[in-house]
Amino acid sequence: MGIEIIGENGSSLSFVLSDASVSIANAIRRTVIGEVPTLAIDEVEFYDNTSSLYDEIIAHRLSLIPIVTDLSILNFKDECSCEEGCPSCEVELKLKKKGPGIVRSDDLKSLNKNFSPVPGVLLVKLGKSQKIDLKARAVLGRGYDNTRWQSAVVGYKYYPVIEISDDCDQCGDCVEACPRSVLAVKGEKLKVVNELACILCRACSDVCDQGAIKVDGDEHRFIYELETTGSLKPREVLSKALDILKDKADELSSKV
Ligand SMILES: [Zn+2]
Repeated sequence: MGIEIIGENGSSLSFVLSDASVSIANAIRRTVIGEVPTLAIDEVEFYDNTSSLYDEIIAHRLSLIPIVTDLSILNFKDECSCEEGCPSCEVELKLKKKGPGIVRSDDLKSLNKNFSPVPGVLLVKLGKSQKIDLKARAVLGRGYDNTRWQSAVVGYKYYPVIEISDDCDQCGDCVEACPRSVLAVKGEKLKVVNELACILCRACSDVCDQGAIKVDGDEHRFIYELETTGSLKPREVLSKALDILKDKADELSSKV
């Protein structure tokens, strides 16, 4: 089994998983979505809110703001040695703003510089003399507990295997039909020029009168697209997910 990174851009990562079964591929997907921990706001205390939104709606919007998370220095609250929350398992944030103006996640100030909200998320618009003043508490959690803790979205597809036989007469119909520009006629030969873009729609083989193109998915190779919320880097999410899977497999193995 192997993983090859084929693209990385800010919060996005593309990689190929080889020599694996569908169940392993899906286990990685599910672990990324549900088990990689991140920080999210779990409790909000309002001192003042004269904005147009109710406290509950603002609290809900706050809970969905991704917070940059350093997993190496934070504990789960229920696994921490403290009893009622401490700086090792909780992060406090404050928000105080007076209108007119737009309140964004940038206005939410973390008391711990290692953990700050991802900037640019719109929270509420304040009219003239409207005010908002609150204190929030963020804790570690997992996507399975609530979507607010989901670290990333991820999906995979089978690795495309495109075969072109000698029956091909280079008519170019398949080149026209392909929505992802995977094929091209070059030097009187039909060639696969962008294999990874193939979405296995088989539009090419459907229009080929000669039956010269065969498109199949390799059931042991998968192409993943992963995008984080911004709380963790995409490589961190993948690496943490693999660690979690390995720990689970080790635990099962030791019990057997
Ligand atoms: Zn603690």
